[in-house]
Amino acid sequence: MKLCMIGTGYVGLVSGVCFADLGNDVICVDNNVDKINLLKKGKIPIYEPGLSELVIKNFKNKKLNFSTDLKKSIKDSDIIFICVGTPTKKGGRSADLSQIYKVSKEISSSINKFKIIITKSTVPVTTGDEIEKILSKKNSKKKFSVVSNPEFLREGEAIRDFVYPDRVVIGTNDKRAGRILKNLYSPLISKGASYLQTSRRAAELIKYASNAFLATKITFINEIANLCEKTNINIEDISIGMGLDKRIGSRFLRAGPAYGGSCFPKDTKAIITTADKFKTNLSVIKSVIKSNENRSKILLDRIKRILNRKIKNKIITFLGVTFKPNTDDMRDSPSLKMIPWLLKKGAIIKYFDPTGYKTEFMNFKNVINKTSIKDAIHGADLVIIHTEWNDFKSINFKSLVKGKKFTIFDMRNIYSSSKIKDQGFKYFSVGK
Ligand code: NAD
Repeated sequence: MKLCMIGTGYVGLVSGVCFADLGNDVICVDNNVDKINLLKKGKIPIYEPGLSELVIKNFKNKKLNFSTDLKKSIKDSDIIFICVGTPTKKGGRSADLSQIYKVSKEISSSINKFKIIITKSTVPVTTGDEIEKILSKKNSKKKFSVVSNPEFLREGEAIRDFVYPDRVVIGTNDKRAGRILKNLYSPLISKGASYLQTSRRAAELIKYASNAFLATKITFINEIANLCEKTNINIEDISIGMGLDKRIGSRFLRAGPAYGGSCFPKDTKAIITTADKFKTNLSVIKSVIKSNENRSKILLDRIKRILNRKIKNKIITFLGVTFKPNTDDMRDSPSLKMIPWLLKKGAIIKYFDPTGYKTEFMNFKNVINKTSIKDAIHGADLVIIHTEWNDFKSINFKSLVKGKKFTIFDMRNIYSSSKIKDQGFKYFSVGK
């Protein structure tokens, strides 16, 4: 099948290359000329394990191509996936759908034969209805079908998640579109993915409800971790004990910093706005947002106590600054709140991230990027393990650091307290 991915970011590029690898002809379009030029040279603009090899392979065998020419790419394709961003509106909490509607207008003037138009971007309930209205202005309804097909991949595991998803959700009442899409996804369904066809609105809501639920699980265990710290209980015992209950499950039950990233923060806010529009009070999700916003403050208070309230001139090292490992995505990472706060209190920040330098900190005077763990922790007063990269899981601090011993605040509970203390370092973790 001939597919067009509009928006060549984390979702559009990954799903585009995976569809190409399954034998489809895929054109990935973006209005960012630099991004498309890089891709045409075989250079990948994002960090995602395994992506580079797959892009190069499929580009070479001409199953995958890149373009900035949206109209031509739409005309040449049968199925159009909209994969542009849906960030939070500036100063508000609803989803900014301007990219979605801009693209919809461009699609509207390029429909030359029957096309399936799919929102893979996360969009609020009724967005599909709006897209349909835009397309209907210039085209007969027989010429297109608007479908919701939310994407559930996780950055850092994106290719595996795309190829082996738990489920494929197709939101349409159109039998023809449903049949074509079931066929498109049949290689994944035959490998075990559940296939669910629902109404378009239900598919849109499944995505938001899923993200809000996962955010709730993280926030729940983070609050229980606060109680563990006061009652001398190890949060890991609680996570294991709860997770063994099949009704609960063990995933997303690990205490740590606030949830961040490009999805949970914006999607929890957007679903609240949708609910407000339909006069429904999602009080649980509202509490989750509030609790998560307070999470960084709780961890910063803990840092204050660890440093005996003396932050001024202290060298604080962050190991990892992204919101999770195996991605370079800095969107809504907890470090973006914590580092400016510590700087304000007079700290000097050093950081090492396996995905390198971060422009997000370039305007701060006292933030220094280091290119190795050793350089980053040298001379530190406090080392914060912020992101759970494998690179940070078996550091021999004792052999790496000669001289001054620092304190370690392990926000991911990676290390055994006794082993680190035996090496002569002070050690703090979360929920213990
Ligand atoms: P992204 O910012 O990485 O990519 C979006 C791309 O769209 C950018 O490259 C941008 O240049 C391009 N774009 C914007 N306007 C355009 C236009 N008019 N024409 C062509 N290209 C245009 O975003 P993302 O992380 O890939 O997310 C995309 C959508 O998928 C969002 O709705 C997000 O919520 C959802 N989603 C993201 C993830 C994730 O892990 N990142 C997972 C599931 C769903």
